Amino acid sequence: MRTKIAVAKGDGIGPEIMAAVLRIFDAADVQLDYEYVEMGKSYFDAGHSTGMTAAAKETIERLGLLFKGPMETPKGKGVKSINVTARKVWNTYANQRDFRSLNGVDTVFSKAGIPINLTIVRENIEDTYGGIEHLLTSDVAVGRRIITRPGSAQVIRYAFEMARRKGYTKLACGHKANIMKLTDGLFLETFYEIAKEYPEIESSDIIVDDLCMKLVSRPEMFQAIVLTNLQGDIVSDLCAGLVGGLGFAPSANIGDNISIFEAVHGTAPDIAGRGVANPTALLLSGILMLRYLGATTAAASIENALLYTLEQGIHTGDFGDRSTPSANTNEFADAIIANLGQLPQKGVVIPQPDFEYKANHDHPSKNKLTVSSNVEEEMVGVDVFVESNKQPAELAEIAKTKTTDNLQLVMISNRGTQVWPTGSIFTELVNEYRIRFEKKDGTRISQKEILHIAGELSDDFKVCSVEFLMKFGGKIGYTLAQGQ
Ligand code: NAD
Repeated sequence: MRTKIAVAKGDGIGPEIMAAVLRIFDAADVQLDYEYVEMGKSYFDAGHSTGMTAAAKETIERLGLLFKGPMETPKGKGVKSINVTARKVWNTYANQRDFRSLNGVDTVFSKAGIPINLTIVRENIEDTYGGIEHLLTSDVAVGRRIITRPGSAQVIRYAFEMARRKGYTKLACGHKANIMKLTDGLFLETFYEIAKEYPEIESSDIIVDDLCMKLVSRPEMFQAIVLTNLQGDIVSDLCAGLVGGLGFAPSANIGDNISIFEAVHGTAPDIAGRGVANPTALLLSGILMLRYLGATTAAASIENALLYTLEQGIHTGDFGDRSTPSANTNEFADAIIANLGQLPQKGVVIPQPDFEYKANHDHPSKNKLTVSSNVEEEMVGVDVFVESNKQPAELAEIAKTKTTDNLQLVMISNRGTQVWPTGSIFTELVNEYRIRFEKKDGTRISQKEILHIAGELSDDFKVCSVEFLMKFGGKIGYTLAQGQ
């Protein structure tokens, strides 16, 4: 049965590598039909604020599958990255990136005889990629880092299911919960909650800096790692380096309704238009897509031809033996096509399902909303962020005049470090403070009372923002200041 997919050629080297990959697909008779969609820099330039036409959006939502080349986001125009927007808008919550040593691609590890075969599953929607940032004073920029229970559960469950399908025996969670106690803490708590459903998979967690050190010193320790968005982005580029660079790093952005397959690398403007780009990462992404579609035989045949070609020492300009001439993009694709049917000496790929594909993706009639935890909530105070050039003690004198019968001033901090009632004279300040009020024991406070105190403070300061202090199921849902 033939399947129709949406294809976006992309910008820079995108059209060159996409043409090469689709030629290989056609030669391998992959049974795909393509509907080309209009997305990328030229569509931003033509005035489409999302970087794609309405017809492109309709096609992708109808077909549920997008194979895309890299795309450039115009700089300095305030527009958001089309790559990130596409992943977020269509909820492709799990970004799976497979990294393995390839014969013919020399790395420090291949030379040392250490094979690498690991998968990073990166959360793809949340974290700092919410892109919610504000300049609160002309000196102070603040970004929101959003980690949610449903979002974490979705990607972590995907990682465990993937580990099970691939026959992995272990899955690690990378995090920085020692510092980001509530955000990464929630991700980690969710990881161990879901791990209980997969007792056959050994689950562990590792602090992300230690993870980076271990990945470069003992990569064979890991089979699969699940991480939040930004840490996952950084760690997966590190892993690309372990297996020979961005030219060999594929990615699958998996959602329940729509999935996107693309290379990890960008548009490579420095070599665009010269026909010399390496199409391997996009080809490997296409191979992931074929497996996702259940075309496991075609996927294995193309991958074996690619591995055989690499073993022959055929290479593009970005890798391989510099003493032998490099192939251009088309010559590299031609060599793979000529090698279809060949098997590599090492690591023959056998057809095996890698994904659980829902052929008839749902077309929902309304946005899905998930509330996964419902515990008793209590409002216990407020942090009011204000702009001020005053010293902490002066600020405290003014803040004390704003307290009510129920709310007391407990702490003032600057850049997260407590500066009142105690602190160090050596703590350097910027012009944005946090003033924390908490309710007195035995009292109840309302949102109205809290907003009133912020209103009172606005007589003396610019109020930059207000955050409620909450308890959930009796546990405090906010962090203490350093030194508090
Ligand atoms: P890049 O990945 O485009 O290039 C980094 C370096 O790697 C360059 O030297 C480039 O020549 C080389 N390179 C990348 N892919 C290659 C390939 N297939 N063959 C040979 N060499 C290759 O990263 P960049 O320069 O930081 O970004 C350029 C543009 O790409 C930016 O506009 C960025 O926003 C965009 N980008 C898009 C995506 C995406 O579409 N998913 C991802 C990353 C960057």
